[in-house]
Amino acid sequence: MMENGDVSKIFGENVFNLPTMKARLPKDIYKSLVKTISEGTKLDFEVAEVVANAMKDWAIEKGCTHYTHWFQPMTGLTAEKHDSFIQPTDDKTVIMEFSGKELVMGEPDASSFPSGGLRATFEARGYTAWDPTSFAFIKDHSLYIPTSFVSYTGEVLDKKTPLLRSEAAIDKAAKRVLALFGKNPKRVVAYVGPEQEYFLVDKKLRNQRKDLLLTGRTLFGCKPAKGQEMDDHYFGQIKERVAAFMKEVDEELWKLGVLAKTKHNEVAPAQHEIAPIFSTTNISNDHNQITMEVLKKVADHHGLYCLLHEKPYEGINGSGKHNNWSIGTSDGELLLKPGKKPEQNVQFLLFLAAVIKAVDDYQDILRVSVATAGNDHRLGANEAPPAIISLYLGDQLAAVVEQLKSGHGVKYEQGKLIETGVESLPDIQKDSTDRNRTSPFAFTGNRFEFRAPGSRQSIGGINIVLNTIVAETLTEFADKLEGCSDFPKAALDLAIQTFRDHERIIFNGNGYSDEWVEEAERRGLLNLKTTPDAMPYFKSKKSIDLFRKQGVFTQVEVETRTEIMMEEYNNTLHFEMLTMLEMAKQEILPACLKYTKFVTDDLSSKKALGLDAPKELEKAKQLTSLTEELMADIDTLDVATAAVPDADVYDTGMYYKNTVIPAMDKLRVTADTLETLVAKDYWPFPTYTELLYLV
Ligand code: ADP
Ligand code: MG
Repeated sequence: MMENGDVSKIFGENVFNLPTMKARLPKDIYKSLVKTISEGTKLDFEVAEVVANAMKDWAIEKGCTHYTHWFQPMTGLTAEKHDSFIQPTDDKTVIMEFSGKELVMGEPDASSFPSGGLRATFEARGYTAWDPTSFAFIKDHSLYIPTSFVSYTGEVLDKKTPLLRSEAAIDKAAKRVLALFGKNPKRVVAYVGPEQEYFLVDKKLRNQRKDLLLTGRTLFGCKPAKGQEMDDHYFGQIKERVAAFMKEVDEELWKLGVLAKTKHNEVAPAQHEIAPIFSTTNISNDHNQITMEVLKKVADHHGLYCLLHEKPYEGINGSGKHNNWSIGTSDGELLLKPGKKPEQNVQFLLFLAAVIKAVDDYQDILRVSVATAGNDHRLGANEAPPAIISLYLGDQLAAVVEQLKSGHGVKYEQGKLIETGVESLPDIQKDSTDRNRTSPFAFTGNRFEFRAPGSRQSIGGINIVLNTIVAETLTEFADKLEGCSDFPKAALDLAIQTFRDHERIIFNGNGYSDEWVEEAERRGLLNLKTTPDAMPYFKSKKSIDLFRKQGVFTQVEVETRTEIMMEEYNNTLHFEMLTMLEMAKQEILPACLKYTKFVTDDLSSKKALGLDAPKELEKAKQLTSLTEELMADIDTLDVATAAVPDADVYDTGMYYKNTVIPAMDKLRVTADTLETLVAKDYWPFPTYTELLYLV
């Protein structure tokens, strides 16, 4: 616990960060490590040897006995295997050792991690490789070393390696464009600030529900009498137990060097948000994984459970993870920040055009990047952006783009000054009047907020796609503009032409409306409603060409990755289906039968006394017929379960979508109706009211 409010006293205390490195490493070693971290240069083995030793000493002083290569397999979660530092000596005692080799490379048994078709080709062997750009940290008496995870044949098996590759792609492409403006920053980086939404639920209540235990969401449950209609939870007062939980989360995160910044209640009861200050996509991805872990762990200390699922409760808002994304230079210039000077404006307009073109050209794979079974419940459900990808500019910027497109007042003066026809770009500020919560991809002042990601997703996959598609359009721009005689004019022309060519992707209206769905169709935008609809686009020729060209994935990597994502969808549905059946057969049906018997017994005794109870008879009839219906619905789902095809993952996905989900939905409706009729004492598990309000 913190003794006073000075966060700087504890910030990063469990991180092998720059000050710690500086204090513990010889000067030359420190210098070359910093160069690797800031410029991505290759690291010498001798350097690693010294760093390993210093890390070990530091970790042992802080109580560590073990180290682990911490990696991010394609499950979207993190993985770790712990080795102790002990090394036996001749006199049968031990010393604590950690070599450069052990720091740089590890060999976890990879056979249980999803690898798609790769499994056959490399026999599941893989190794982990140290990512020196993400600091090592200490948790639960182990030294955690962030690593990449790749196969022996070199194929990536994780979400970090391609993310690093996509950062390199952005760096290369953006630098080419900036060079045309006479700028040569050391690096161009992609940033992200993920806003993490989550629900809290009382742990004891959660443990009484198989669905929450096994699938992370409720598969049954009717809406509580009071939902979120009152709007009294958003930014509302934080309850004491929740506040204590949040305080501990913050402190834990600060110690781990995570820049936890904002916390508040969200729209739904028991729903909350935490957001950090943005960092590079790689660091932010690591930190978001740490954040999700800390949320879970700390909740437990407070008798709570943290639900990260995208849709834990039907009829109540789900949880997303807004991915605030931008690009900037190592000199601190944000490239999506509209400046005031015309020549800077051209640069901004060109980068803006690159994002617009990227989102339009690659709306399909951007959609895939947020496609999961859980997120299918959110997107398009009037609480989150639709499954249609579009881009929101805000009134001011949209007006600028419109004016430029019309061509009025765009003046050039050979070689130097450029009049864009717009006096000067307004200094667009993020303010609440200029925000559109219904857009999946919204400009918010100096960045774009991608609002479609689900709360449980790793932001790795999302930012791999974002970085790569923007790197691609910047590459195309650089190809066109390099060697142009009249550069500023050509750049502005290209930006304006791009606005014209991609105007269909820009939409500033209400994304939740039915009219937009029709309008989007007229515009030829994709509306990929579910994961099985979207997934095949990821392995299209266009997508493979893109990832190969930008050096992010090989063809095999794209194909296996797509297969794994599809498999994950199928597995999720499989477990939900089985859990649902188990609950229906073993808990709900017996409860309904018991309660019906209570009512019919009561009726019989009344009848014996000659009492007439027509209403109760009606209720008995209703209970009986609904219980019969429940049994029929169980049978239907049972049949569907038995008939899951032994097909390829894509056909199987379609089967889940077309056959299993409707059967699950039907069963749920019947069970939820019964919940409203059966006495509370008979109902086998906690209701929505208890789950949402007893926090
Ligand atoms: P909102 O008002 O949208 O809920 P929050 O303060 O909750 O905003 O979160 C905004 C997130 O955007 C934070 O993580 C913040 O650090 C991040 N952010 C701000 N500027 C940038 C930027 N230029 N690039 C990336 N992320 C940014
Ligand atoms: Mg927020």
